[in-house]
Amino acid sequence: MTYKRRPVVVGNWKMNLSLTEATELARGLLERLASLGEGESSAEVGIAPSTPFLSAVINCVEGSDLGVSAQHMSHHRSGAFTGESAPSQLADIGCRYIILGHSERRQYYGETNESVSLAARAAHDVGLTPILCVGETLSQRDDGETLAVVLKQVEEAFKLLSAEEAAHTICAYEPVWAIGTGRTATPEQAQDVHYAIRQHLKELYSEQVADRVRLQYGGSVKPGNATGLMSQADIDGALVGGASLDVDSFQTIIHIASTDQ
Ligand code: PEP
Repeated sequence: MTYKRRPVVVGNWKMNLSLTEATELARGLLERLASLGEGESSAEVGIAPSTPFLSAVINCVEGSDLGVSAQHMSHHRSGAFTGESAPSQLADIGCRYIILGHSERRQYYGETNESVSLAARAAHDVGLTPILCVGETLSQRDDGETLAVVLKQVEEAFKLLSAEEAAHTICAYEPVWAIGTGRTATPEQAQDVHYAIRQHLKELYSEQVADRVRLQYGGSVKPGNATGLMSQADIDGALVGGASLDVDSFQTIIHIASTDQ
């Protein structure tokens, strides 16, 4: 029998919102989640505020099921790394997840397959759940390199993780051309890549591990396109950027992810 994966939806707030807006959005979301019926809110939900607001948002959601994620961290344990956050520091303040290898971090801040792999290792060492982002650019897709690029990113990101750790890791497939552009992969395009990722995890680990890893789709997910995406067999939730800044849209996506599995 196949394992029933719990859908997971995480809102990536990127470098948006003031302190007041961030805490109001977190409180608003908590109220909405509390008002959902059991079947409507079965998804695990997280939010990823900007680093300066992590503690304030964590205080707002304390005691609830809503998890908080950081958007980046160092793979070093401590030391002379000005401007960075250490894995243990994020764990100390109560973060549950860490987004690693987001394409914006790869493009602008030099995150590489190698640094993602080290950070994934460091995340598990302190009990943070990594959300490992992978995805191809438009030119890579046009050149037929999608699977080669994505599977290599997956292999590198997981390479320092044991089977048990891998099973407790989230991987987000985010085609770079679909992030913040309003262009979304079709449900079939997304499913093809998710299926290939799961098959690859099966080769790297085992069928049991591959069955447990949750694979999110990310890239302009909105209430209007979430149903087709979330109903795909290998899509277990979403990493949501823009639409997570609007409580109505995010709630609708959570609802769809909870019910369309
Ligand atoms: C993201 O930042 O991970 C993302 C998917 O953004 P958007 O939903 O805005 O495309």
